[in-house]
Amino acid sequence: MEEKERIFMSTSTRVKQSFALTSRYKAHYRERCGEALDEALYSTEAYDAWRALDPGSTSPAFSRLAALPALTKWELRAGGPQGFVPHGRDIAEGLAAAEIELVATSGATGDQVTNVWYQPWWNASEAASWQLNAHARASATGTHREAILTSPWCAGFPCEEGYLTMEQRTLGRFLFLSERSDPSSWSCDLMDRMVEELNAFEPVVLEANPSFLARLSRHIIGRWLHVHSPALIVLTYENPSVLHRRQIGRAFDAPIASSYGATEAGYVFMECEAGRLHQVTTTCHVDFLPFAPEHGGPDVGRILVTIFGNPWRSLVRFDIGDVVRLDGHTPCPCGHREGLTLMSVEGRTVNLTLSPEGRSVTQGAIDRALGSVSGLVEYQILQTGPSSYHLRFVAEEAESRPVANEACEALQTVYGPAAVIITDRVEAIVPAPPGKYCLSKRLEPIDPDVLLDDQFAPGEF
Ligand SMILES: [Zn+2]
Repeated sequence: MEEKERIFMSTSTRVKQSFALTSRYKAHYRERCGEALDEALYSTEAYDAWRALDPGSTSPAFSRLAALPALTKWELRAGGPQGFVPHGRDIAEGLAAAEIELVATSGATGDQVTNVWYQPWWNASEAASWQLNAHARASATGTHREAILTSPWCAGFPCEEGYLTMEQRTLGRFLFLSERSDPSSWSCDLMDRMVEELNAFEPVVLEANPSFLARLSRHIIGRWLHVHSPALIVLTYENPSVLHRRQIGRAFDAPIASSYGATEAGYVFMECEAGRLHQVTTTCHVDFLPFAPEHGGPDVGRILVTIFGNPWRSLVRFDIGDVVRLDGHTPCPCGHREGLTLMSVEGRTVNLTLSPEGRSVTQGAIDRALGSVSGLVEYQILQTGPSSYHLRFVAEEAESRPVANEACEALQTVYGPAAVIITDRVEAIVPAPPGKYCLSKRLEPIDPDVLLDDQFAPGEF
């Protein structure tokens, strides 16, 4: 910690603190944070109103960041794509020169944002993330063959009626395995085709939405099919469930790594070969806002992302909408030390539920509890009242009562004995458009700001 920052924190307890002070960074990292801040506050239109909150460039960068509010998707929409382009660059000129594109996010919660997409920065962010995993370092060269299995509405070529040929779903070194966005309606023929294509294409990396690849994996296991195992399976697009990950591990003989990011912010965390998630410090800074102790803090909290070095995008303290669990107490065996280290991404804030006593419960906590239930294939839990929960589940065997009973016991270890759980066996869990599973949700959404430790809260504006 720098001396100046220590004084700053000890003399003013009313000032919002920065959790980043407890992490390790290379010497030039703080300068990059300061540059990103200066660019936003003094060269980017959308941040004009934030300037008054800046303690000034003589203050340490982390303290300046902590004094600013969170940037929400609402503000991204209100500012428009041009509002977040720094240094007077012009989107129309960038589009005319084919330097950039405009990309609308699918918006898992229905709130679409239009982003300026600058491919070289995205590629740099992805390449930086690969450096954090030994298998990715060895195999992801940037020219490697890659198969992708996700909703075609997120990446690929959608076709919900009829089918496309392999050639129609191939783009350079990428093969998109599915043109259909609902795995619960995939036919056996379609999944056989995916396996045949994996065997013919022999991808080095298989990038997949975990629930989609788990569906294919159950098909592979059920039919004793042979499938080509890539050098690395990268899970992305949604937060992997313990169940999905286990099913994938049974079908494929390949290391699995979870990659975490967002269309708005690039690659933010990458899982290393030791199973922890490391911050991609080359292209982003992450502010961690711990929850209050009664809600799982200080290890559990929300994150805000600030990006570095994108000439077409200035993003400061962007609320990416997820909850994470820190794991910085012991050094990671992979040897990586810089930035935040996570034990897990705990799911989105919209996936939070409450115990009957009002304690917050993350999707990750539910998932770990249900992960040990034998015969459970998939699930979805909806909190319908202060102490009532509705569990929909898919069971492996015809007799589902033991699965339901074991699942209820597992959920009561999370919610407590006062929880009233109704179970409902279903044939399949259907993803929400554009193709993402929701594992947990509260009927009446929780305001995540009320869960925060107010020393680190995102600030008033
Ligand atoms: Zn590690």
